[in-house]
Amino acid sequence: MIITKDLCKVFRTEEVETSALHDVNLHIQRGEFAAIMGPSGCGKSTLLNIIGLLDNPSNGSYIFNNTDVTKKSEKQRTHFRKGNIGFIFQSFNLIDELTVFENVELPLIYMGLTASKRKAKVNEVLDRMNISHRAKHYPQQLSGGQQQRVAIARAVVTDPNLILADEPTGNLDSSNGTEVMELLKELNHSGTTVVMVTHSVRDSEYADRVIHLFDGKVVSENKHKQIKREPIKEEL
Ligand code: ADP
Ligand code: MG
Repeated sequence: MIITKDLCKVFRTEEVETSALHDVNLHIQRGEFAAIMGPSGCGKSTLLNIIGLLDNPSNGSYIFNNTDVTKKSEKQRTHFRKGNIGFIFQSFNLIDELTVFENVELPLIYMGLTASKRKAKVNEVLDRMNISHRAKHYPQQLSGGQQQRVAIARAVVTDPNLILADEPTGNLDSSNGTEVMELLKELNHSGTTVVMVTHSVRDSEYADRVIHLFDGKVVSENKHKQIKREPIKEEL
């Protein structure tokens, strides 16, 4: 599902040039749960953003669902991202002015679904994330754990086959963190590929494989478990 070949990323500003990723070669299978770990500044978020088509590599190629997306236009990459990929961030990134329901509904509005279809889908996902009793509340009225559950609902409402999570438990206490990790595990077990950046060894134990980055390079890959799930046919 995700193949990177000699992926490099250089950030250039007028004064400085930062080499954030060097020759990253990865192969993440459909249905896998992969964790990316490494010290602050080693390139984890940069890699996740490239995998999520939010950013482009400077060099190398990135094959997503059998297509070399580095050769695609911005418009085509946005089209690929929509519906295929859901993002979860450490800081939840909810819109304060919108209710829980409206936050989760937003991706479906972008996809052009009718109001009745949106309502049914949002309610289903809020139920699944055990947060439907808060549908009419605003993000600031919720605890951190609840906000992250809303953010997960927003990420999965379009039924993406890939979830990318950047330190999803970073702002949560231990019990809320466990709840979020259990939700990610459940999503993964129902067939969603998950790639997560984390600082937490405990969270990384949920993953099939831990990819260690250091200074923009993959320094090791440890498999926690044999991936036993049936490979699902690749599709666009
Ligand atoms: P991590 O997520 O592992 O903490 P990042 O991927 O955010 O690390 O950053 C990797 C390196 O790239 C850092 O040195 C960071 O300062 C630099 N970097 C990240 N984003 C940008 C950007 N938009 N412009 C310039 N430098 C950046
Ligand atoms: Mg980061």
